[in-house]
Amino acid sequence: MNKAIFLDRDGVLIDNSKHYYIWKSDQLLLIDGVIDNLKILLQKGFLLFVVSNQGGISRGLYTKDDILKLHTELIQTFKANHIEITEAAFCPHHPEIEKCLCRKPDSLMIERLISKHKISKTDSYFVGDSKSDMDAADKIGIRGIQIVPNQNMFPYLSFLNQ
Ligand SMILES: [Mg+2]
Ligand SMILES: [Zn+2]
Repeated sequence: MNKAIFLDRDGVLIDNSKHYYIWKSDQLLLIDGVIDNLKILLQKGFLLFVVSNQGGISRGLYTKDDILKLHTELIQTFKANHIEITEAAFCPHHPEIEKCLCRKPDSLMIERLISKHKISKTDSYFVGDSKSDMDAADKIGIRGIQIVPNQNMFPYLSFLNQ
């Protein structure tokens, strides 16, 4: 069994203080400390996953291809810093347009990753900046770590020493 850190994207990895929806290269601004913090998590033996709501696709603000392209770029940026993201999952739906079971606070995205990558729930965590992240983690039964949006998550990584 593997252990994993599931990471929300916006407000946790990418700074979204200036843009609510992020889909373009020039909006790809990493939050302070992200590179160092992810390295620490990898050194502790966690697989890293990104789990993100992208309801802007359903709303027609940008396309699935825009997000796939941005995620490729995000993953390449991390790779250049010796950080491997095992998979980046996203929900393209918006509840006002189409209902689904993947959008957080539902947990289908996390459930799929857990079964595909043989993740032990008891050894894994969800790091997010919103209540819907914590609710999704609760629903599937993994521990949620709620950080302050767009700030260095380092102070919250003390759970690693427990
Ligand atoms: Mg967020
Ligand atoms: Zn969905």
